[in-house]
Amino acid sequence: MDLERVTCGSCGASLDIPESTDYVNCRHCGSSLHVQRTDSVVFTEVVNTLKQHSERLAENTEMLRLQNELELLDQEWQNESAGLMIRDKHGHQSIPGKASSIVGAVVIVLFGLFWTIMAGAMFPPMALFGILFIGFGIYTTSRAYAMAGRYESLKDLHDEKRAKILSRLRTLRPREDSKTSSFGD
Ligand SMILES: [Zn+2]
Repeated sequence: MDLERVTCGSCGASLDIPESTDYVNCRHCGSSLHVQRTDSVVFTEVVNTLKQHSERLAENTEMLRLQNELELLDQEWQNESAGLMIRDKHGHQSIPGKASSIVGAVVIVLFGLFWTIMAGAMFPPMALFGILFIGFGIYTTSRAYAMAGRYESLKDLHDEKRAKILSRLRTLRPREDSKTSSFGD
């Protein structure tokens, strides 16, 4: 194979490269060079200096680390929130809400009061069921309310962490150079 001599466009070192080579890394300064040929001259264009290379590498590593962190965070959130989800008898899950537990409590108390008053007027011992119903209803809905509160604060925490990672990712992404991303890594 014929070799040709080119000069590193970054540090000026002489490099002997095969004539068919278009890209070469300078063995002196580590720059990535694009070999340009015209009819009369061969010269090199610096694609990436070694410093840019390692900066890019560090950024890519940081990006991978952040993406990984994001994935773990989402997984953790899924696990945590699964325990707080409200499951109906068909197995559907819904997000616990403070408002819906308040509505539930109001409905239960109103119904319980109605029952208690009606039973009290007609057959007083049955009024006891109304009172028990109200007590049980308040107990379950206040538990649901507490769950909803826990869900909300967990979600806030998760969203906050997620936003932080995303904003750090955004600061890395724009600097990605599509022209050279497939070369030299
Ligand atoms: Zn060089």
